[in-house]
Formats: sequence, structure tokens, C-alpha cells
Amino acid sequence: SWLLQTRSLAVVYSNGYQALQPTSLTIRPGEFLVLLGASGAGKSTLLRSLNGLVRPTAGELLLHDIDHPLSGGRALREHRRRTGMVFQQHHLIGRQTVLANVLMGLLATRSSLRSLAPWSKDDKEKALSALDRVGLIDKALTRADALSGGQQQRVGIARALIQQPRLMLADEPVASLDPHTAESVLQLLHDICKTDHLTAVVSLHQIDFAKRFADRIVGLSQGRVVFDGKPAALTDAD
Ligand code: ADP
Ligand code: ADP
Repeated sequence: SWLLQTRSLAVVYSNGYQALQPTSLTIRPGEFLVLLGASGAGKSTLLRSLNGLVRPTAGELLLHDIDHPLSGGRALREHRRRTGMVFQQHHLIGRQTVLANVLMGLLATRSSLRSLAPWSKDDKEKALSALDRVGLIDKALTRADALSGGQQQRVGIARALIQQPRLMLADEPVASLDPHTAESVLQLLHDICKTDHLTAVVSLHQIDFAKRFADRIVGLSQGRVVFDGKPAALTDAD
């Protein structure tokens, strides 16, 4: 079974640079897939094309429960609604509370601004529950910019979780953290995805983290898939 497929999906940026060669990937439900590659390999481009943040110039994106390729419109919006995003620069609003930042995750799920403010009791409970899961419930009313980098990234995870996504996309989520903090944030992300049976696609440039957490590694180099398999099958030659 599969959740998401790319078929010969390719991306050429407007300056003519082909960041992704035609790529066909089948993403299975519940897998924790790591996109591994050096800076510039095309990880971010591929990851962001999985929810239409980057528009493919060729090929198709397919979802298992939609009978046509996603190219815009309602099906793509619905797919985005059910996709949580975690970024390297977590894009928190520093002057706002942690709670307010987590509530922002609901923006992705609501179609009208009318449904935003004031936040309902139910919304706040959802946010507190998401914060509880990342171990930060006691920081709910702290300003986001008073948190450490690792804590901020946990808030980023909580903000994605409040959407109740079925797919979690994380673009170099630990690249700006020290190795010890990076490992604990990845462990948390991994454990949450497993507990919730979420499908995850996480880009990383550290092979040791990829081997430690991935069910499957997709290696990218110069916009091409150069490895696709279990972590144990990845050798130094790759
Ligand atoms: P356009 O040029 O049509 O606005 P692009 O898709 O080329 O759209 O660029 C989107 C964004 O990515 C722009 O904000 C641009 O500054 C940024 N960008 C452009 N070139 C690069 C690059 N080489 N690496 C990363 N980001 C880039
Ligand atoms: P990675 O995530 O592996 O670092 P990216 O997908 O960000 O790789 O970038 C792949 C290549 O595409 C890089 O050479 C980058 O400079 C280029 N690139 C990324 N975004 C843009 C853009 N908007 N316009 C032009 N080139 C881009």
C-alpha cells in the first residue's frame, strides 16, 4: 500500500536550474523516510514538492485516495491541510507566546480567517495537548524567543501536530542544533510519528542520524536519487 507517489516529478527553477531530475518515489503509510544528501542535493525541493509548496515542472504527484494527479485546487488544499511542516528555521513569532505560536498551526487547517480569533477553548486545549506531547506545557505562556533552539524546534513540531496531519514533512529540522539537542529533537519527532502512525519525510545531511532513525533512506545527489533502501544497506560507497 502507498500514501503518496511521485511519477517522474521534476523541478526546474525559473532561472533554468534543474534542482530535481525526474523522480519516481512511492511513500508508504507509516514509514519514517529520511532524505539524505549534501547541501544543494535537492532535498528541500523534493520535500516541498510533496505538498505543492514547489510546483513541479514535469511529472505528477499522486495521493492514494484521489483518482487524479494533484495539480492545484481543492485536492491539493486538502492534502496541505493534512500535511504538517517543520522547518530548519522554525519560523516562530518570537514576541508571541509559545501557545499562540502553536495555535498558528491551525491556520493551515481553516479556510476562513473568521474562524481564527479569538481562539476557542477547544483550540487552546488542542494546543496545550500538543505542547504536552513535546514536553513544553509549562512554557505555554513564555515568549517564543525566550526558548532555547531545541525548545523552539519542539514548538515547531507541536505547531505541526495541532493540524492532526497524516503526513509530516520536516526540512532539515535539526540542522541548526548542536548534536546532542539534534538527536533528542529527532528522537521526539520519530517517536511521535510512530505513536500516531504518521508518515514522515525528513531531510537530513547527517548520515549517522539517518541510519539511526530512518525506516528507509532516499539518498539524493545533484537532484537525483542515488540510493533507496534500508539504512543497513547504505554503505560508505553510497
Ligand atoms: P521567481 O524567481 O519566479 O520569483 P523562484 O522559484 O525562482 O521564483 O524563487 C523563489 C524564491 O527562492 C525566491 O524568493 C528566490 O529568492 C529564492 N531563490 C532563488 N534562487 C535560489 C537559490 N539558488 N537557492 C535558494 N533559494 C533561491
Ligand atoms: P538541499 O535541500 O538538498 O540543500 P535544495 O532543494 O534547497 O537542496 O536546492 C537544490 C538546488 O537548487 C541548489 O543548487 C539550490 O541553490 C537550487 N535552488 C533552490 N531553490 C531555488 C530557487 N528558488 N531558484 C533557483 N535555484 C534554486
